[in-house]
Amino acid sequence: MDYVYGPGRNHLFVPGPVNIPEQVLRAMNRNNEDYRSPAIPAMTKTLLEDVKKIFKTTSGTPFLFPTTGTGAWESALTNTLSPGDRTVSFLIGQFSLLWIDQQQRLNFNVDVVESDWGQGANLEILASKIAADTTHTIKAVCIVHNETATGVTNNLATVRKILDHYQHPALFLVDGVSSICALDFRMDEWGVDVALTGSQKALSLPTGLGIVCASPKALEASKTAKSVRVFFDWKDYLKFYNMGTYWPYTPSIQLLYGLRAALDLIFEEGLDNVIARHTRLAKATRHAVEAWGLKNCTQKDEWFSDTVTAVVVPPYIDSSEVVRRAWKRYNLSLGLGLNKVAGKVFRIGHLGNLNELQLLGCLAGVEMILKDVGYPVQLGSGVAAASAYLQNSMPMIPSRI
Ligand code: PLP
Repeated sequence: MDYVYGPGRNHLFVPGPVNIPEQVLRAMNRNNEDYRSPAIPAMTKTLLEDVKKIFKTTSGTPFLFPTTGTGAWESALTNTLSPGDRTVSFLIGQFSLLWIDQQQRLNFNVDVVESDWGQGANLEILASKIAADTTHTIKAVCIVHNETATGVTNNLATVRKILDHYQHPALFLVDGVSSICALDFRMDEWGVDVALTGSQKALSLPTGLGIVCASPKALEASKTAKSVRVFFDWKDYLKFYNMGTYWPYTPSIQLLYGLRAALDLIFEEGLDNVIARHTRLAKATRHAVEAWGLKNCTQKDEWFSDTVTAVVVPPYIDSSEVVRRAWKRYNLSLGLGLNKVAGKVFRIGHLGNLNELQLLGCLAGVEMILKDVGYPVQLGSGVAAASAYLQNSMPMIPSRI
């Protein structure tokens, strides 16, 4: 017996892991294969080429690690930096906090720029640090593109502008775990040196692939970076790329077939359409939050995230209770508030393979839960605001025009 059984579908609205489309599930439902046969290297070759498209890079080199976002972080750092190297990193929420913790445990000298949770990275402070660093002690600027804990998106183009303005050679390392394939992300144009994501977010796959993409400058840095690395060493991958066999150790065959199917779906919809869909779903969600009379945790419009909305509840409500009820009563999974914002916010994830009517189901659920926990919401108000917006802004489904 499945003790968590609930009739119908679970409405999965945590900001990752997200819904896996049927096509991807079916593509992964297959036996193991010999990864040394000609088939897997041939498929890997096309996957690596196609993965570059979601990073918007032609010059980058991608790596598909059997890991999660955390492993992808470690790969980005250890391949490019040496112990003692100075990094500048922004603390704005739980995931940037965890990345900073990893940087410290890997013995980098982390210059932490802290902001209130709900604010974006303080790029004015970055500019002053970069301006003052005439001897180039800063080896890398590390930034989380989209802070999943607070629903804050940072402006990466500005980071690049700052580095260019001062002709500073620091590497530009970007966590794109809850952004790549959902938000506008341009690795080459923004001069990102290492970008990374995890399969369970916008790619809508199971957890288990950490996708890292390195610029030529990052590959060059990896030749002299002294951090200890074994499992995540790019050198091992590059050796097997050159041999045409691609894998230094056993890949997850099923995840590779899943990635193929996931990319096919994204390209069929069109990456720019996928990104526009995320913008639409996010705006609809924000309309609903406003109609409920609640606040977005994100303090300024310029930082609004199009993949996750953190909703602030009034002080007399415990947001964990909202999440508990959502699951127990409505078969709806919402994101908890983490760390500093625990109990204060709940999160609606609107990323991955998701459509407008699914979102409206979630918003209807949230309204009922808010009423359950004693918040005086008018049932239907958020759904009405979101659907009025969607009805005006939804295009035809690209593949059905
Ligand atoms: N970075 C961001 C922005 C995340 O949202 C997450 C997880 O949610 C991570 C990193 C860590 O990824 P993982 O849990 O796959 O290790």
